[in-house]
Amino acid sequence: MKRIAIIGGGISGLSAAFTLEKHRRAGLELGYSLFESSPRLGGVLLTEHVDGCLVEGGPDSFLTEKPWAAGLCREIGLADQLIDSNDHDRKTYILVKNQLVPMPDGLMFMVPTKMLPAIWSPLFSTRTKFRIMQEWFHSPRESSADESVASFVERHYGAEVVDRLADPLLSGVYGGQASKLSLRAVLPRFAEMEASHGSLGRAMISARRKASTPTGRPLFTSLKNGMQQMVEALVAHLPASTLHLNTPVLAIQPQDKRWLVSAGYSSDEFDAVIVSTSAQAAARLGLPEKLANSLDAIEHTSSVTVTLAYDVSVRKALPPGFGFLVPRSEGKRLLAATFVHNKFPHRAPEDRALFRCFLGGARDPAILNQSDDEILHIVRQELRQVLNLTAEPLFTRLYRWKDAMAQYNVGHIERIQAIEKICRELPALALAGNAYHGIGVPDCIRSGADAANHILNTLGVAPPE
Ligand SMILES: Cc1cc2nc3c(=O)[nH]c(=O)nc-3n(C[C@H](O)[C@H](O)[C@H](O)COP(=O)(O)OP(=O)(O)OC[C@H]3O[C@@H](n4cnc5c(N)ncnc54)[C@H](O)[C@@H]3O)c2cc1C
Repeated sequence: MKRIAIIGGGISGLSAAFTLEKHRRAGLELGYSLFESSPRLGGVLLTEHVDGCLVEGGPDSFLTEKPWAAGLCREIGLADQLIDSNDHDRKTYILVKNQLVPMPDGLMFMVPTKMLPAIWSPLFSTRTKFRIMQEWFHSPRESSADESVASFVERHYGAEVVDRLADPLLSGVYGGQASKLSLRAVLPRFAEMEASHGSLGRAMISARRKASTPTGRPLFTSLKNGMQQMVEALVAHLPASTLHLNTPVLAIQPQDKRWLVSAGYSSDEFDAVIVSTSAQAAARLGLPEKLANSLDAIEHTSSVTVTLAYDVSVRKALPPGFGFLVPRSEGKRLLAATFVHNKFPHRAPEDRALFRCFLGGARDPAILNQSDDEILHIVRQELRQVLNLTAEPLFTRLYRWKDAMAQYNVGHIERIQAIEKICRELPALALAGNAYHGIGVPDCIRSGADAANHILNTLGVAPPE
């Protein structure tokens, strides 16, 4: 019987374990052990229920258009628990000179597709409005070289769109900065659109026309009882004997055609290993030097999320919508805030306002050195400045996520190809997680399943198609 070790019990590792478990139940002769250093499974997926409110410490949802998370939820019996974001209330603000300015109608991610709302919007200066109009007439442009998202967006719309849209949006998704993130890894469709149409605005409209019918699907999907519900349902499908909590893997070493895995106080041999920790943690596992150095070269950022609950008077005084993003030029430490009670149903009773604030990322790594009280003070001070919010919160919760977000910096695709080439030269080894082929929960779920299937193929125990 082939034995496989999975290192890391976040959603990527759990997805790998679930894939192996399905094959085992279907009759494949295999065994697996999942090692998790902390006392709980799920990694950054963490949900708490506080005073009738549902508080997400890490991710609060996933993009509906990426099918792997909802697909997994259906497989593990959560089909009736999937909920849609309240898209009829979808409105996001950008903080400009300490005022909340709504994103104009027709903005798709950061691309204006409707000229009039963009021209009337106070979000852009006259100069930028001219750039937006000119962009419509850009000619197709092929380029094989990677570049930063900032340089690409600046080429199309100018520096103001980088500051007010690209940077805050990417800071929200990656905890990263547009000046370092790779266009080809982060927004590959934008590179394709430039090659086919020149203008991103025209390309977006043409893509929308070609889409057979409007899907009417929500932008985000989540679960009634929060993201941890997915972890709990997954764990219920895995034999308890395969899951080893409080068991940090200290080293994995190739031994002939197998791996020696040192976890907790013991060492054991496995035929294959799936490493589903962050790339930074993977780099510290004693892997061959070339591989460890390449993994270590993937930068990671840390973040802090702070949830604050207020009473109904605060809720009534708030603007409608999902929340706001804060451009770097505003000089605040807040990166973004979500009005959770508006974004999803089942998150807060009618008489509560629930805010989720984001801090840290590439913009402010020093926030991690501050105490909880200091961070809370900063958040409350900045919410006062932005929303005139002076009330005492009913409760607060703060979560720290150290080195949790991999940065897909310029050259990322080539870096990952080089890493995967080194892996192929070693005994059966696969990498899963947010450092390689996608940062979101659906991508991580796919990466875990792909890693498990790759290992089965490498070991020659894959079931016939
Ligand atoms: C604050 C925040 C908000 C986010 N919001 C969203 C969102 O709304 N939507 C979305 O799609 N994505 C979101 N993401 C991204 C997404 O949640 C993550 O990319 C994804 O969950 C990562 O899962 P993972 O299993 O790869 O890694 P992790 O969750 O980091 O899990 C890795 C696990 O490995 C364990 N580990 C580390 N070293 C060892 C070792 N030596 N031995 C054993 N175990 C080890 C860790 O303890 C951890 O449990 C967010 C991320 C963060 C941090």
